[in-house]
Amino acid sequence: AKQTGRNRFQFFTSSLQEHANTLMEMEQDLRLALEHEQLEIYYQPLVRTQSGRVTGVEALLRWHHPTLGMVSPEQFIPLAEDTGLIGPIGQWVLETACQQVSQWQQQGLKLYLSVNISGRQRDLGMDAPLLRRILMQAKLSAEQLVLEITEGMLLDNSDETIAWLQSFCDLGVHLAIDDFGTGYSALSYLKRFPIDTLKIDREFVRDLTLANEDALLVEAIISMARSLKLRLIAEGVETAEQRAVLFSLGCEFLQGYYFARPMPAEALVAWMADYRPT
Ligand code: C2E
Ligand code: CA
Ligand code: CA
Ligand code: CA
Repeated sequence: AKQTGRNRFQFFTSSLQEHANTLMEMEQDLRLALEHEQLEIYYQPLVRTQSGRVTGVEALLRWHHPTLGMVSPEQFIPLAEDTGLIGPIGQWVLETACQQVSQWQQQGLKLYLSVNISGRQRDLGMDAPLLRRILMQAKLSAEQLVLEITEGMLLDNSDETIAWLQSFCDLGVHLAIDDFGTGYSALSYLKRFPIDTLKIDREFVRDLTLANEDALLVEAIISMARSLKLRLIAEGVETAEQRAVLFSLGCEFLQGYYFARPMPAEALVAWMADYRPT
């Protein structure tokens, strides 16, 4: 559900209450996280449903806090958004992940890259010229990059948001709707945005069997995606059965622990070397 900044602060404080004395302290910590290199990007493979072959990776941010240990992005991204720190952090994620994927490519491993972006980044310096510069410096082609936006961003169905997203599309970058099915997005919104991929939220995948309601929902999403000529990815795939059901429903790409968890760059390379698609 859409939460106000205040609610998100409350969520953040309650979950870290025992550790953080004040919110300002956490904000200060997050400010230092970038400088002190406490942020790291994990990569999770995306595979073709039928062949099991890896086609891309999603960049997922991690924060190694000096005393709290690993802090989940679900906790610090909202704080980063409310404080504006998502500006520099989001830029760092884009630069670092683009460089990493480009480096893999030079080593013969070609993958496309999905990066999560927040709507707040629009007013915090992320624009098409910056993205073009990041891609050029990384020597990565725009077609290889997918920006994942949440359904919530579609709610802000403003001309500015559409123009902002369109400016990335004009570079050749792809746009995906993340967590599809959880928000309030009407189908009519989809048409207004230059989107080419939907990611079905893992909520629909969790209890998925051929016989239940979730299968009907997923089937409906898939047929809609087809008629809109959108690419479809299911996230949160944890079992062979879920994979089989998604395959039979016609979902082309999958992501989830069944294949691999998100992992540091070096671990991904090692995992790829051992991985046998089935
Ligand atoms: P998301 O974009 O929906 O990412 C998928 C989340 O599902 C990730 O959580 C991933 O670790 C988890 N996941 C993947 N496969 C499975 C599975 O099979 N089962 C289950 N139960 N979970 C699975 P994570 O890494 O904790 O990230 C949480 C959220 O934080 C992301 O959700 C995304 O919205 C946000 N986030 C992460 N990195 C960034 C970033 O660089 N920028 C922004 N703006 N948001 C980010
Ligand atoms: Ca995502
Ligand atoms: Ca998602
Ligand atoms: Ca999510």
